[in-house]
Amino acid sequence: MEKKQNCKYIFVVGGVISGVGKGITTSSIGLILKNRGLSVTAIKIDPYINIDAGTMNPTEHGEVFVLNDGDECDQDMGNYERFLEVELTRLNYMTTGRVYQSVIERERNLEYKGRCVEVVPHIPLEVIGRIEKAGQKANADVVIVEVGGTVGEYQNMLFLEAARMMKIKNPKDVFFVMVSYLPTPYTIGEMKTKPTQHAVRTLNASGIQPDFLIARGATNLDDKRKGRLSLLCNLFFPDRIISAPDVKSVYDISINFEKEKLSEKICDLLGVVCKKPNEDAWKKWKKFASHAHGDKDILKIAMIGKYFDSGDFVLSDSYLSVIEAIKYSAYAQNKKPVLSWINAIDFEKDPKKLKDLKKYDGIVVPGGFGSRGVEGIISAVKFARENKIPYFGLCYGMQMMVIEYARNVLGLKDANTREVNPNSKNIVIDVMESQKELLKNNSYGGSMRLGGYKAIIKNKTIASKAYGLKEIIERHRHRYEVNPAYIGELEAKGFVFSGSSPDGHLMEIAELPKDKHPFFLGTQFHPEFLAHPLHPHPLFSAFIKACCARPKLHAKESIKKK
Ligand code: GLN
Repeated sequence: MEKKQNCKYIFVVGGVISGVGKGITTSSIGLILKNRGLSVTAIKIDPYINIDAGTMNPTEHGEVFVLNDGDECDQDMGNYERFLEVELTRLNYMTTGRVYQSVIERERNLEYKGRCVEVVPHIPLEVIGRIEKAGQKANADVVIVEVGGTVGEYQNMLFLEAARMMKIKNPKDVFFVMVSYLPTPYTIGEMKTKPTQHAVRTLNASGIQPDFLIARGATNLDDKRKGRLSLLCNLFFPDRIISAPDVKSVYDISINFEKEKLSEKICDLLGVVCKKPNEDAWKKWKKFASHAHGDKDILKIAMIGKYFDSGDFVLSDSYLSVIEAIKYSAYAQNKKPVLSWINAIDFEKDPKKLKDLKKYDGIVVPGGFGSRGVEGIISAVKFARENKIPYFGLCYGMQMMVIEYARNVLGLKDANTREVNPNSKNIVIDVMESQKELLKNNSYGGSMRLGGYKAIIKNKTIASKAYGLKEIIERHRHRYEVNPAYIGELEAKGFVFSGSSPDGHLMEIAELPKDKHPFFLGTQFHPEFLAHPLHPHPLFSAFIKACCARPKLHAKESIKKK
């Protein structure tokens, strides 16, 4: 048998400022290498002390992405899974908290055999061990490791030290890509390279020299500046400085990279045996990416929830997977989704505002926690049901459907979820048995029903038609469930549970039959985590189809090419 080539490691680090697309750069590099037949996996390092992202506020830190194995992690992990179409595990995600926790546990188990355990080398060694294990588990040719934050921060120093140690041990297998920002100050009107020169020197101070520089900026980097950066940043080959101007859509980044032959340049540097880019697969990706541009009929989707008053830029991060899932299904149907973020509290203050929902082609209620805005959401669900507006409820959005139906169709006026009102006489959404003890002990971290679980689909339902399957595995993140005591009553009044756990106890999908409503469906799980650019999620696609079919009450609009 042919010997597998050494696994190669590419560290992606950031310079100057954060938020300029390290995650998408990592995903895009992974995509173009995968397109050359290499097996690629990606790792995210988050420098904070939290053990995982599950306890963090999504409006401040972005969406909590859930892996199949139940790990609650950073939204970048979702980007990697979507771009690479791979299934990642908790080995692919680490935080400072996680690394220290393992080292301390090992010390307590006498695994250091009486030696003094020190920050250096033991912390970097633990980091290296995790990176290598993730590579082995994925049987990867290339492992791309994104180091969170920017160079020069205390927080990620030990991760950079780990990377440096790896490079010293295996100089031919470890490489560095720096994603740096080149500002064009308004008053000067030209792109400045100095901050990037400083960032490279700061990285040099950690003993690391970047092999590639991804030059993020508002516009293309010209040859003059490439030459300057090459000279001043020790980048012997100016063509390893890649221009990465702002783009309209993140899917264009990999296409721009390939225009600069980045996959070829990286493969040359790594010394890996790889194939020519797969033309067919690349054509498909380009076609998909082209959907973000150009004229198209739009679909107006109302996203209803709480915290929706904190600004669009925050929301696009907090609900990243939902937004992406909607886009993939809409693009596949040659439509352009336009999302409006509606604060449910507005409906509580002024119920007349519900009428405005008529102008939308569809309504989505994404996952959520706590009582804020819940009454507003329930009134919007009622409006969607009565006015036959396509409705898709994700997790909390499904629980709201059940409460609304119980109140307004079963006549249980005080129906509620225990999460909102534990004193209600009709707790139609109750805490799961397995969660009771955990909540009593304040054991919140990583303790929800998390990750992939199997569900059985009922025949002749909207769900079965969408999936074309009898069994599915979807990812979860919840503590509450439909109270089994109310299932019979709900079903007797026409509510359909079209998906359930294999033992039949837990209701996984709820819907109304097609002759009652064009699309009124909710899932206890989060289908958005399994939507891929070239493989949209079947339930999102069914929802989008229903939105397309809705007779337009608003004038058709199209978005003109910029
Ligand atoms: N708060 C609800 C629960 O814990 C729904 C969770 C969610 O939407 N992810 O069950």
